[in-house]
Amino acid sequence: MTKPANRPVPRAVLRQTPSYKAGRAPQPRAGRPTYKLSSNETPFEPLPELLDAARGATERMNRYPDPMCTRLVQRLSERFDVPASQVTVATGSVALVYHVLQAICEHGDEVVYPWRSFEAYPIATKVVGATPVEIPLAPGARHDLSAMADAITERTRAVLVCTPNNPTGPVVHHGELEKFCDRVPENVLVIVDEAYVQFIRDDDAADGLALFRERPNICVLRTFSKAYGMADLRTGFAFAQDDLADAIRLCTLPFPVSTVAQETAIAALGCEDALFARVDELVRERTRVLTGLREQGWDVPDSQSNFVWLSLGDDTEAFALACEQEGAVVRPFAGDGCRITIGEPAANNLVLEVAGRWQAERRA
Ligand SMILES: *Cc1c(COP(=O)(O)O)cnc(C)c1O
Repeated sequence: MTKPANRPVPRAVLRQTPSYKAGRAPQPRAGRPTYKLSSNETPFEPLPELLDAARGATERMNRYPDPMCTRLVQRLSERFDVPASQVTVATGSVALVYHVLQAICEHGDEVVYPWRSFEAYPIATKVVGATPVEIPLAPGARHDLSAMADAITERTRAVLVCTPNNPTGPVVHHGELEKFCDRVPENVLVIVDEAYVQFIRDDDAADGLALFRERPNICVLRTFSKAYGMADLRTGFAFAQDDLADAIRLCTLPFPVSTVAQETAIAALGCEDALFARVDELVRERTRVLTGLREQGWDVPDSQSNFVWLSLGDDTEAFALACEQEGAVVRPFAGDGCRITIGEPAANNLVLEVAGRWQAERRA
């Protein structure tokens, strides 16, 4: 038995867990532009309609927001044809990862997820007192769904599926996910994280919402942070069966989403044409960057998202530094690779330049 501490100490698992590393912002440089390609944000400035909605809502900042996000939930219900009782809103879909796991896991229950995947998964799993079960990605930096199904035990309560996968980019295919779900016991929740769903152009990609309509053990996570360009306003939503949705609401802090965020999200749902035209532009840029990198000899996984992944191993940090010296901050995962957000064309050109030089020097 370990000796009890003589002062209050955090849970051991939390002392051993590295904290979430946010993508860094570039240092401003006189006379030369810099680009933040480290957090998968949209490079586009907010649409005027969204700014108007946000500004208008600040006039009520002396009042608490609607804790149930009633109007936003109603709009989401209509937009996605899901009963309002099955829609929950929280401070970003990151928060919903925590809330869903809190709602479903007892202490020591297992949560299966692919690795490498979204950095928040191991942290959320440990914070809620569950045990992470990490399944290495298959070749092509894709989910190894059969190994994930094999890893399910009697202690497993949830499986996280990230499609497209952050930080590597590929989607899970629909047939694959159906077959996987056939192998998942009915009492295990499959959480489909679709943060980048609007960037998918692969017709075979998994449709989490369609699965949600067909199967009772699916939960889908979406966000306003990426395609809707609202990262700062922390608004995400989940589709879950009624009893789970009720439990998620219990786990959510009171008044989570500000009126500014709620009103802006409602405005964003009314501006999808303009917002998704911007997504189209980013997808064209993604194709250009992927093609360019492959022509330079890089082996890049098929990204269906707003970022690309370079597997760099021990060179990861050196490559990130080379980008930074040219003014672009990317997201290094030490010893593994760099995730590079697709930004404005000038930023993408800069990445292609650094990557091309890197390959040339390696060949020399
Ligand atoms: C960005 C992202 C989210 C959403 O983040 P929020 O800003 O909290 O909504 C969720 N999952 C993945 C995989 C992401 O990359």
